[in-house]
Amino acid sequence: VEKLKQKIAEEGRVLSNSVLKVDSFLNHQVDPALMDEIGKEFCRQFKDSGIDKILTIESSGIAPAVFTGLHLGIPVIFARKRKSLTMADKLLTSSVYSFTKRERNDIAISGELLAQNDQVLIIDDFLANGEAALAMADIVQQAGANVAGIGIVIEKAFQGGASKLRAKGYHVESLAVIESLEKETVKFYSESEEVQL
Ligand code: 5GP
Repeated sequence: VEKLKQKIAEEGRVLSNSVLKVDSFLNHQVDPALMDEIGKEFCRQFKDSGIDKILTIESSGIAPAVFTGLHLGIPVIFARKRKSLTMADKLLTSSVYSFTKRERNDIAISGELLAQNDQVLIIDDFLANGEAALAMADIVQQAGANVAGIGIVIEKAFQGGASKLRAKGYHVESLAVIESLEKETVKFYSESEEVQL
């Protein structure tokens, strides 16, 4: 998605060699037109994979996941980081080490939301070391459902999460792949073009 790369180049801020801040369109303020483009692209990539449901994690995965669900015409579940009183008794949980918050947290969904044999598309905003995606895959497996694909908005290829997930046999699609954030510069993978921010 060219518009996504443009937005990253124009509005992204490199906070360190490993962290990119995109609060103006994805992580704090949300650009609905861009999310719609992202949803269309994930729909195009996964429409033949027989997906029944999307699973993401609150809060920043919700916007891209909902637009993807809209285009695929399927429901979207978001894993919660805090258990809510309204959640069912049967909780499926897994633990995630948060790359940005540097702490370990449990994530949970109500077991009743995923059926055995559901084909699930996992969506997330960023892929770094793959912890969040693996925890979601763990929840899908606990439900007896199947991970049919993983859609990532921004992959930081240098952190190895995508290789780890692909080595486990998952079909991973990333819309923008970053090769490096060194020297306060976003270097995209495909064209290896450098954008000074
Ligand atoms: P992983 O679990 O793959 O190590 O990290 C992915 C999660 O950490 C994502 O859900 C995302 O919220 C957060 N994250 C990882 N790297 C970045 C980053 O560079 N910028 C932002 N804004 N979030 C990130």
